[in-house]
Amino acid sequence: MNDSKHFETQAVRTQAERTQNREHSVPLYLTSSFMFEDAEQARAMFADEEPGNIYSRFSNPNTSEFIEKICVMEGAEDGWATATGMSAIFTSMGAFLSSGDHIVICRSVFGSTHQITTQILSKWGITHTYVDIDKPEQWEEAFEENTKMCFIETPSNPGLDLIDLEWLAGLCKSKGALLNVDNCFATPYLQQPLKFGADLVVHSATKFIDGQGRVLGGVIAGRQELIDQLRFFARHTGPAMSPFNAWTLSKSLETLAVRMDRHCDNALALAKHLENHSEVTFVKYPFLPSHPQHELAKKQMKKGGGLVTFELKGGLEGGRKFLDASAKTLSFTANLGDTRTIVSHPASTTHSKLTEEERQAVGITAGMIRISVGLEHIDDIIAEVDKAIEQSK
Ligand SMILES: *Cc1c(COP(=O)(O)O)cnc(C)c1O
Repeated sequence: MNDSKHFETQAVRTQAERTQNREHSVPLYLTSSFMFEDAEQARAMFADEEPGNIYSRFSNPNTSEFIEKICVMEGAEDGWATATGMSAIFTSMGAFLSSGDHIVICRSVFGSTHQITTQILSKWGITHTYVDIDKPEQWEEAFEENTKMCFIETPSNPGLDLIDLEWLAGLCKSKGALLNVDNCFATPYLQQPLKFGADLVVHSATKFIDGQGRVLGGVIAGRQELIDQLRFFARHTGPAMSPFNAWTLSKSLETLAVRMDRHCDNALALAKHLENHSEVTFVKYPFLPSHPQHELAKKQMKKGGGLVTFELKGGLEGGRKFLDASAKTLSFTANLGDTRTIVSHPASTTHSKLTEEERQAVGITAGMIRISVGLEHIDDIIAEVDKAIEQSK
């Protein structure tokens, strides 16, 4: 079954080698280093002439298994696992960008990705231009002579807008820039950016990949030649994933397909329900026919994902009341992609430091609620969300 083309089979059957104990579940290799047989083997391994584990900052059987699974799922040649999603993003930028380079980035990226771009890369003379994800006409103009990378998230957070990956990959290629996609919201089950021509894909494995809110992790995947280049940066700067987290996340990947199917089915049902709700002014969900990019969503995603965004009539105050009401029954926490349904109100929490204008530019309205739809029974999710909407009036 190991050469099966099916995602589900690969997720389950891609496994690290077993020890002489013939264990069925992959053991946890909690070791910081590995032994050499003799001077010649050590020399050959350090010279990259012989494969093998040397030190867990470089590689470890558990992280290697996790990377291998991600690579078969994303259709990548190689990858690198990191301690968090942010270290994956920073590594994917730091390994390829030099002083004097320029990056094109969509305005609606994750908050810490903004901070890296504006506060950290800028210290090293790496400049950037922001573009709106849903306005492709801005993209062409944003590229400069020295543009080395384009960084995007699709679907975006929390507006759930999309960008056409195939079109953007073509544009990046014509400009000689690497296309780097944060695929955290879609997961490799729903969308494989490399197949549309992207060069690199990064994940926060903390979200749907773990899917159970237990561990932090990140991963970068792409062509061999790019990962070889990245390996030098990562080996020496040390953002390595812990073997324990890799062991946990490898098991998480085995259930990714079944979890995502249910997340998506529940999310679509909730989105359809909210579309007909008298207290809701609009609902955004990529697989609702009313989504302005529904056709594109169907082209590049298998299903619509686990997040639903909607706008309450009650505005900012309504959003705060919704949080207070739902915190008792749904989860109110700074995470997403969990078995449990999680609510958030971006205008009063994650995006409260932005000005009203900046919020509008990334599609966040005062009464906007984002729900990471969990794996509870859909009837219960709808009932609890309805109750919270009722109390937000
Ligand atoms: C959470 C998140 C990150 C950061 O991941 P961490 O694992 O928290 O470091 C990056 N991108 C997106 C889209 C995220 O949701």
